[in-house]
Amino acid sequence: MNKFLLSIIVPVHNEEKNIPILVERLSKAVQNYTYEILFIDDGSTDSTLSILKNSAATNKLLKIYSFTRNFGHQNALFCGYQKAKGDCVISIDADLQDPPEIIPTMVKKWEKGTQIVYARRQKRKDSPFKKLTAYIFYRFLNILSDVRIPTDVGDFRLLDKTVVTYIKNLPEHNKYIRGLVSWGGFSWDQVEYNRDERFAGTTHYTFSKMLNLALDGLISFSIKPLRVAMYIGFVTAMLGILGITYALYRRIFLPHEFWITGWTTLFIAVLFMGGIQLITIGIIGEYIGKTYQESQNRPPYLLKETTNA
Ligand code: UDP
Ligand code: MG
Repeated sequence: MNKFLLSIIVPVHNEEKNIPILVERLSKAVQNYTYEILFIDDGSTDSTLSILKNSAATNKLLKIYSFTRNFGHQNALFCGYQKAKGDCVISIDADLQDPPEIIPTMVKKWEKGTQIVYARRQKRKDSPFKKLTAYIFYRFLNILSDVRIPTDVGDFRLLDKTVVTYIKNLPEHNKYIRGLVSWGGFSWDQVEYNRDERFAGTTHYTFSKMLNLALDGLISFSIKPLRVAMYIGFVTAMLGILGITYALYRRIFLPHEFWITGWTTLFIAVLFMGGIQLITIGIIGEYIGKTYQESQNRPPYLLKETTNA
């Protein structure tokens, strides 16, 4: 038996078909450690919670924290980090896309002194669309933000207690955990694995949720979009000055037959400027909205009940 405590946190939302096999494979993978497994039930509406409770009744090492409603994956993860007592904490998805069997390899790297161990997907059996959007997003985020978020790592990772404490104590409410983990500048290493398909059920990350997560990540780690908006403003203003010069030249120096033409140019210019202005206002609005949410100071989740906690 090792001397340290290993915490596993699993956010679950409607995963009734995956829980039994997950519990079995997880328990087997960590049997040689002193461990606790925390399930964060993120407002499941199927039998996930009752299945979890059944398992927890016979195994006190399984703990359940259940939310009053669906608060989202990132908030469920955050709850896990708040409640975990381990010397190292591993977060893993409930759908068995992340193989629990590589946990001992991750723990070994941590024992050598690395503070973060990412599980990095080498091959992933997701849809081509998901792969493409994930690929574009990570490259895009790395260009636009000041933090380097390692590509092709998801939320399957090991964090040392110091990193968990740092995340727990950050004052911001809108936590994009993936970004914050790498922002901290802790030492890290990785273990590669092949990402399986979902064991049962379908993904909860629809296109709009993925887009939201991507935008949240971008907004909370970079103010470059504001700057880009300003640059675009400069460029269009320059074009505007050229246009004005040309219009005046025509009006003053050319005979009056030429005055009434130019409707197309005007039309295009109005539409183009209108579009640019709306996009820019939208970008500014995003940042104002985030500031507003921060000032509201609401808790990231509400607990309905806990088991073995
Ligand atoms: N999840 C959650 N709350 C949500 C959506 C998802 O706790 O609102 C959990 C889900 O049960 C799973 C993990 O987050 O354990 C990852 O979700 P999913 O597998 O749907 O995402 P994908 O792997 O397709 O990115
Ligand atoms: Mg999944």
